[in-house]
Amino acid sequence: MREEIAAHGPMPVARFMALALGHPEHGYYMTRDPLGRSGDFITAPEISQMFGEMLGLWLAALWQAEGAPQDAILAELGPGRGSLMADVARVFAGATGRKPPLWLVETSPVLQQAARARLEGWDLHIVPHINDLPQSPLFLVANEFFDALPVHQFQKLDAVWAERCLDWREDTFTPVLRRGPVPPLDPRLPDGAIHELCPAAKPVMAGLGARIAAHGGAALIVDYGDWQGSGDTLQAVAGHERVPPFEAPGQRDLTAHVRFADLAAMAPDLAHGFAEQGAFLAALGIGARAEALARGGDHHAIADALDRLTGPDAMGRLFKVLGLARPGQPLPGLAPLPKETP
Ligand code: SAH
Repeated sequence: MREEIAAHGPMPVARFMALALGHPEHGYYMTRDPLGRSGDFITAPEISQMFGEMLGLWLAALWQAEGAPQDAILAELGPGRGSLMADVARVFAGATGRKPPLWLVETSPVLQQAARARLEGWDLHIVPHINDLPQSPLFLVANEFFDALPVHQFQKLDAVWAERCLDWREDTFTPVLRRGPVPPLDPRLPDGAIHELCPAAKPVMAGLGARIAAHGGAALIVDYGDWQGSGDTLQAVAGHERVPPFEAPGQRDLTAHVRFADLAAMAPDLAHGFAEQGAFLAALGIGARAEALARGGDHHAIADALDRLTGPDAMGRLFKVLGLARPGQPLPGLAPLPKETP
């Protein structure tokens, strides 16, 4: 990074994020399994099987509604350890009576190996890019995938937008503003405002949308963020604590909030359901599932997991769900997309 800055000048935040997370040798995800209690952060499927079970039921309902295509595949973007897919696939197979092929889009060799071990016994395929998925009816989930895609940050100063970049000064990566061509941004935002854009999401949403439009299927995208919004949402986490984002690249997780309105606009017509995670899981019956599990297990642990997944002060409101399917297909647990705010 220092060499690149020395050669080309300050580096966009998006470039910093892409290298910190995805550099083939030193990138954060390339070198470790960051999940779990002993890692840096815990995700919904690592909290409880109930999360993946609800997503698996949703996909099974959509598979039925799509006419039960026999050549359907189950797929996931950024599967981590494979925990979510294990729960989704088990429930999907139980509800539909067929064991579909599983396709994971994953770039990290460490996590590819973990997922392979977790999903033994399934017809499993792991590929690096969404375009490597077969042309088949596609039933896909992505949890905390889009928050890891690099964002560009732009700031408005004296009525002019400039890109936030990192310079190397006094032995630290230091944010600076670089004037130059910027994409069109909302002129109503006030001076000082920061706005984030995630162009890396575009080819992913386009690939997803094209497959569902051509072959049928459905997708659920779950992440933290909002329908719209601006501001600096870049955050770094190590050992379950917030840490400064531009220190020790490659050693800590970096994420940014997802702007779901932007994602939806990248798959027009297909993205047509949206909800908060808590409301979505409740509508699909997570409460009844928790009761059933509690009868045979540790009911304190299950009540705690239910609260973490759905509670308004836990993940229930911060995390959102976007649903994609062909126009007219009803999407259980999701409401129509919010209207653009003026
Ligand atoms: N979905 C999992 C893991 C979330 S962590 C869970 O909920 O537990 C983010 C995941 O996305 C990791 O598996 C990481 O390796 C993967 N990832 C990040 N950027 C990626 C990219 N550009 N292409 C493919 N996978 C990516």
